[in-house]
Amino acid sequence: LPVVAIVGRPNVGKSTIFNEMAGDRISIVEDTPGVTRDRIYTRAEWLTHEFRLIDTGGIDMGDEPFMNQIVQQAEIAIDEADVIVFMVSAKEGLTESDERVAKILYRTDKPVILAVNKVDNPEKRAEIYDFYALGFGDPYPISGTHRTGVGDLLDRIVAEFPDVQTEEEDDAIRFSLIGRPNVGKSSIVNALLGEERVIVSDIAGTTRDAIDTKFTTPDGDEFVMVDTAGIRKRGKVYENTEKYSVMRAMRAIDDSNVVLMVLNAEEGIRDQDKHVAGYAHEAGRAIVIVVNKWDTLEKDTYTMNEFEQHIRNEFQYLSYAPIIFVSAKTKQRLNKLPELIKQVDENHKRRIQSATLNEVIMDALATNPTPTVNGKRLRVYYATQVAIQPPTFVVFVNDPELMHFSYERFLENQIRKAFDFTGTPVHLIKRAR
Ligand code: GDP
Repeated sequence: LPVVAIVGRPNVGKSTIFNEMAGDRISIVEDTPGVTRDRIYTRAEWLTHEFRLIDTGGIDMGDEPFMNQIVQQAEIAIDEADVIVFMVSAKEGLTESDERVAKILYRTDKPVILAVNKVDNPEKRAEIYDFYALGFGDPYPISGTHRTGVGDLLDRIVAEFPDVQTEEEDDAIRFSLIGRPNVGKSSIVNALLGEERVIVSDIAGTTRDAIDTKFTTPDGDEFVMVDTAGIRKRGKVYENTEKYSVMRAMRAIDDSNVVLMVLNAEEGIRDQDKHVAGYAHEAGRAIVIVVNKWDTLEKDTYTMNEFEQHIRNEFQYLSYAPIIFVSAKTKQRLNKLPELIKQVDENHKRRIQSATLNEVIMDALATNPTPTVNGKRLRVYYATQVAIQPPTFVVFVNDPELMHFSYERFLENQIRKAFDFTGTPVHLIKRAR
């Protein structure tokens, strides 16, 4: 998906416009506990165009001086975005900070669209002419409070999207590695790609910084590792900030079907791990939990079970995700990883015939009769699969309100017992009939 960044000095109204553009999609992301509420990054759509939106102002730079923060945010936008919206404010007029931001944006050949916010009434329109001095062409007058002009701005934004090159359709499995810095992601990548008889090629992504790596295993299975560049590069100050790496991870999750959630056996589980895992779960991706640096622990017969229990407690909503204990250093079990990715990808794409599915549902109803709520009995008529990636089932009932979470969970478990959905979320949608 194309990426749009909104940059500008604080208080020009970036977040207001960001929320306006993102619409109610934000609430979807917020449903899962542990998922970021910082709204720095979200999916949005306008007409038929889907895109990702970054509010660089939401990236916390810690104690950096004010001006450095603005500069770094603009640099992130240049790195990450396909289209940059440079926002200024008619209320305060042209400021020195605006000019500083403009200077950084001169360095990119990516499209920069100048939006003048707080044009709340017709008189204010006269103020926008000053901004021609910034050299980004016609400014777009908008008002976050009155919600005017945003449509025109969006029209212009989507017109700047790069033409999507129709990538050749292939069966390669797209996966990404996510996890905090230093858990060993790039070591795993290097170990996987460094295997003898693994054939590797790089594919340039839509933005300069995203590089996908395609490789073929000796068994002939094809994989695309998403955003290898984001994993391998190091250095710039902002790349070490937590929110930046969360943002990068979210984007890799969006672009892949299977997500490897990499944990460090030495350090255990941190909040940031939960953040991104929650996002991957919410996005409906297949998930494998990879515990790396397994070589560093003193182990006895119970270590692996105990660690697994710890993970299960901390990531209760990921009960479907398989766990693999590896070492990038000693290569222990790393050769099992491609096969595991392939399996969960198959489960993620699994289709169940309606007849077979309904046999399972009828058996479930027989073993555990439907509950009665306020004198009204839940009736389940039939179910049908409506989507894959993740497998999504519509269950037709007399009244969706009567099917509580516990019965829904029971049905999901029965479905999981009958079919192999290891590694993938399963979505149930209740419909009245
Ligand atoms: P990334 O930031 O997640 O990509 O982490 P790196 O791959 O750069 O690894 C961070 C550090 O952990 C490096 O010093 C690696 O050598 C080390 N490391 C990575 N994997 C392992 C492992 O399986 N065992 C041990 N002992 N060290 C590891």
